[in-house]
Amino acid sequence: MRNVVIRCFFCGSLTFGICAALLFLCFHYYHVSKWQEQTREGTSVLFLDEKLQQPISRGSWETPTPHASVQRPNEDETKEQRPLLKLNKDFNYTDLEAVHGYLKYGFNVVISKSLGKERHVPDTRNKMCRTKHYPARLPTASIIICFHNEEFNALFRTVSSVMMLTPHRILEEIILVDDMSEFDDLKGKLDYHLEIFRGKIKLIRTKKREGLIRARLIGASRASGEVLVFLDSHCEVNKVWLEPLLAAIREDHRMVVCPLIDVIDYMTLEYQPSPVVRGAFNWYLQFKWDNVFSYEVEGPEGPTRPIRSPVMAGGIFAMKRHYFNELGQYDKGMNFWGGENLELSLRIWMCGGQLFILPCSRVGHINKQHNVDQTRVIRAVIYNNLRLVHVWLDEYKEQVFLRRPSLRSIPYGNISERVELRKQLGCKSFQWYLETVFPELEASNGSR
Ligand code: UDP
Ligand code: MN
Repeated sequence: MRNVVIRCFFCGSLTFGICAALLFLCFHYYHVSKWQEQTREGTSVLFLDEKLQQPISRGSWETPTPHASVQRPNEDETKEQRPLLKLNKDFNYTDLEAVHGYLKYGFNVVISKSLGKERHVPDTRNKMCRTKHYPARLPTASIIICFHNEEFNALFRTVSSVMMLTPHRILEEIILVDDMSEFDDLKGKLDYHLEIFRGKIKLIRTKKREGLIRARLIGASRASGEVLVFLDSHCEVNKVWLEPLLAAIREDHRMVVCPLIDVIDYMTLEYQPSPVVRGAFNWYLQFKWDNVFSYEVEGPEGPTRPIRSPVMAGGIFAMKRHYFNELGQYDKGMNFWGGENLELSLRIWMCGGQLFILPCSRVGHINKQHNVDQTRVIRAVIYNNLRLVHVWLDEYKEQVFLRRPSLRSIPYGNISERVELRKQLGCKSFQWYLETVFPELEASNGSR
């Protein structure tokens, strides 16, 4: 009898356990597919026109596709709705840790944990880069890494790759700005593990959530290196990544340079080389990777030649600290995240600077899938983009409004300081930018 009771109890518990697990899985499936469905349909969170839902991109998380298939922005692309969670067919839905991690961080956390706090990545540079020499005397760099609720190992690999692959004489410091993260492992545990880099690391914690733009400004205000280098908190730098950037800035203090962004796959975390591309955008103000012209990769330097770029991607770049300040840093009136990369790029070109991508400097970036608060992000991107439209686009702002008429009546705060800055810096017109830097962005009544 006792045996029967025990058996019944055992079977009951087992059935209950299986049911609970199944229920949990169903909940996640429902959650994920609902999420994908919503984003595919273009949620009406803001009750604005359909196209307002689209510009959720600062660029660096888009995968630069192989050279031949890099597309120019076209209408189809702008109509496309990017699903927030692109779950791979091979994704193991029964691995609850993986599903959870994916929803929390936007990439494969199980693999990230298994890779741990540091790893070696393949040298993806063109062979010709290995023979390049850089001056012995280079300016020093402060590396600024802001993070909000980042996965511990991905954040740590960002720091340890910089520590491993940067000569210490040019590395002034790494400034970590914790933008009010909530996760426990980013508190005491992070402090504890960063101890081994003591002397080179400054960790600043903001008192409220500032958003990427203001968090970067906080980091920059604490920097003492001659050059500021901004990185995301899920990057891994490659061999000799910093020297080309610093050498270019040493030659010309108004030169702003970006590494070529390699892709760390969000699903496998494999480090993959990117083709040589340049940054572009369309009249929806969406960032795109674009083809480089063949003459730019021909000639003696071949594919190692610096690429003139109309805009920078999400914001992995190096710039002389004094020049960053002189040029007006970032627009402090911008909120949270988005649009700041286009604004800074236009300001650089129109106000006497230059922006180049250096293919011999490589930094990997996890193209993580955004699962943040959509409404907040969309609002911020629209607000920030409108600020840049009204400050920088002159009569060409009509090209934007033509395509998105509802933007005309949306508030964008006070821009008088930024308009004044433009005057003080004696910046050129947007027409000059179009003619000289980015003639491919044609003004028309079409849809580009
Ligand atoms: N970030 C931040 N505060 C925010 C939002 C983002 O500090 O409110 C950090 C984030 O952790 C990351 C960097 O800013 O290190 C860039 O954000 P993200 O990777 O989401 O941008 P993307 O790569 O998509 O352009
Ligand atoms: Mn990123």
